[in-house]
Amino acid sequence: MISCTRRIEWDAMHRIPRHESVCKAYHGHRYSADITCTAPLDELGRVVDFGVIRDRVGGWIQARWDHTAILMEGDPDPSAAVVAEANARNGKPVYWMPAPPTAENLAAELGRVAGELLADTGVTVTRVRVWETPNCYADWSAA
Ligand SMILES: [Zn+2]
Repeated sequence: MISCTRRIEWDAMHRIPRHESVCKAYHGHRYSADITCTAPLDELGRVVDFGVIRDRVGGWIQARWDHTAILMEGDPDPSAAVVAEANARNGKPVYWMPAPPTAENLAAELGRVAGELLADTGVTVTRVRVWETPNCYADWSAA
């Protein structure tokens, strides 16, 4: 089976509530995600056009994760509500995660979302790798 992978990058702020160290402070990352798709090749020899992944998954990321904060629902720090109000007012609503916004949980969320966004193309999203820094990534894989 042949796969193809599209990289998508974005900028966002997060914090990890109850983290033992510096990650409990608000801070930003230049994230990148590698979206890997698998399918039988089409008549042009492609799994899927790279532009389809860019438009659908990249578009979703630009609308929801880029230039905003990705925070955990129920974040106990009162400042989270202030950040949410400010970003909503500035047109970039906070993206609320049901779990702490680690690279692992972002990869899982994006794996679920990318599968939905690409479902009608016939591809299977088999892996999502989210890079939080140039040295650290987390992988979600289809079961
Ligand atoms: Zn971080």
